[in-house]
Amino acid sequence: MFKILHQTLRTGIVTADYPAGPARFAERFRGRPAFDLENWSDARPAAAACPTGAIEVCDNGTQRRVTVDYGRCVFCGECASAGNGVRMTREFELAAFSREQLAFSADYALNPDGTHARLLADSRAAADTGKLEAAGRAVRETVRRVLGRSLAIREVDSGSCNGCELEIIALNNPIHDIERFGIHFVASPRHADMLLVTGPVTRNMELALRKTYQATPEPRLVVAAGACGIRGGIVGVNYATRGGVDQVIPVDVYVPGCPPRPEALLHGILLALGRGGKQLRR
Ligand code: SF4
Repeated sequence: MFKILHQTLRTGIVTADYPAGPARFAERFRGRPAFDLENWSDARPAAAACPTGAIEVCDNGTQRRVTVDYGRCVFCGECASAGNGVRMTREFELAAFSREQLAFSADYALNPDGTHARLLADSRAAADTGKLEAAGRAVRETVRRVLGRSLAIREVDSGSCNGCELEIIALNNPIHDIERFGIHFVASPRHADMLLVTGPVTRNMELALRKTYQATPEPRLVVAAGACGIRGGIVGVNYATRGGVDQVIPVDVYVPGCPPRPEALLHGILLALGRGGKQLRR
């Protein structure tokens, strides 16, 4: 007994400061890729290297539209290795209220050899996120009024590889300790305020997910976790998968990553609750 007490006192507090303080990651941690649209001389190598189709190039005569979708990104870093204009960052707070908020496009005039002559338009600059944020605020207000400061989460694996589950389990360890926010995981959707759903929604799990949603009392929140939960990830839409949680039930918050780190999940959950968290930064 005294040995345990001694060891506990010697170890001290291990719980991370985040979100009150900065998150601490391993040196090799990769967050989202950042795109220097003004100086990106050619998007084709990055698009060809991207294994998930997160970067799409569409040429129309002497113009090109490049679309980047963080909802599909698995943060592999291949685009940054493929050419200039892309670098990997350590940013992980990417949760958003809609899939549209996770994507942007850039239009380029082209040189005869297909490289970019100049940037014509950047949808990031023109994005009107006001409507989406208002919708998000309405959800958060309702939830805050009804749920106060506690939250019960039911996790639903709709066909994931279990990478997301490993990170979700880590939310409950002493380092991330999600219970300090009054948030805990429950075994039944009937006791839950939020469904945290992973996986691309296999067709075998579709009915189960629908029934789980119906069994969750209102007001209920749904958070889609990971690239699979957002857009089907690597597997996408096929004979066995629906290609994302919102193809089956309504989603309030999307958390990108493959898998999203515990801090990214925590950011998304707190964002859904309106308890802090920065909005999407690209
Ligand atoms: S980091 Fe994302 S955008 Fe870049 S190649 Fe990997 S999946 Fe594609």
